[in-house]
Amino acid sequence: MTRAGRFAPSPSGELHVGNLRTAILAWLFARSTGRRFLLRVEDLDRARAGAEAVQLRDLAAVGVTWDGAAVRQTDREPLYTAAIGRLAAAGLTYECFCTRREIQEAPSAPHAPQGAYPGTCRRLPAAELEFKRSTRPAAIRLRSSVAEWTVEDVLHGTFTGMVDDFVLRRNDGVTAYNLAVVVDDAEQGIDQVVRGDDLLPSTPRQAYLASLLNMPVPEYAHVPLVVNAEGVRLAKRDGAVTLGDLAAVGIPAEAVQRRMLESLGLPGGSLETALQGFSPVSLPRDPWVWPGA
Ligand code: GLU
Repeated sequence: MTRAGRFAPSPSGELHVGNLRTAILAWLFARSTGRRFLLRVEDLDRARAGAEAVQLRDLAAVGVTWDGAAVRQTDREPLYTAAIGRLAAAGLTYECFCTRREIQEAPSAPHAPQGAYPGTCRRLPAAELEFKRSTRPAAIRLRSSVAEWTVEDVLHGTFTGMVDDFVLRRNDGVTAYNLAVVVDDAEQGIDQVVRGDDLLPSTPRQAYLASLLNMPVPEYAHVPLVVNAEGVRLAKRDGAVTLGDLAAVGIPAEAVQRRMLESLGLPGGSLETALQGFSPVSLPRDPWVWPGA
């Protein structure tokens, strides 16, 4: 299978200029290294009717092209189930019955990093396990044997972050993002992951999981986010931030694309033109402040 990069939006609503800029960067990273570029709709959670079609249309409008048809995570459950089955067979999973509140209120293990699952259900005595099974459905957690893991990132260098017994399948049966993303990237032959740097803290968990599943760890590049004037990650409430909003105030998609390429220090016109000047080392490392419509 040939090498590939990807963009993997969650169809929870319209993409804003921050998402579109990340997609353009992922495209530039992939195309500048001769990779295919794939689109994956991460619709296991937070999917809104109609959002996928609008997202694909807006990506195309800013010049992002992809190879083959977009895949949807909801069509791929058997792959996730098989991966969880492999981990379970190796003794690397356990059932967890904790509510969010119980986790918050549990005393954390000594030296456990902030936010780590405290391990309440890791070693439940058989009788207690039987009882808990009769009270509520279980989530499936990873039985991790490390507290942290190190990844290499093209833009951030060596990054070490926390790994805990994170959830693989929620107690409502929905596969967790951290499991799905690892299985999908490996199964789709994706060996380059370019995404917003808000996801860097989750990356050690994903790379550790890939190693447990004997799946290759992709190259990572976590790119700076787009922020509002207060320096906060751009969101819908920040005014005209989607292509639809911007078109309504007289800014067409081509102009949005040009602004984004300029913000990356790249020549505008088309993504193909920008490709000629693209080099990861000379990318801006700071968040881009959206100048507004
Ligand atoms: N679906 C995730 C999001 O939209 C991105 C996941 C990823 O790129 O790994 O935030």
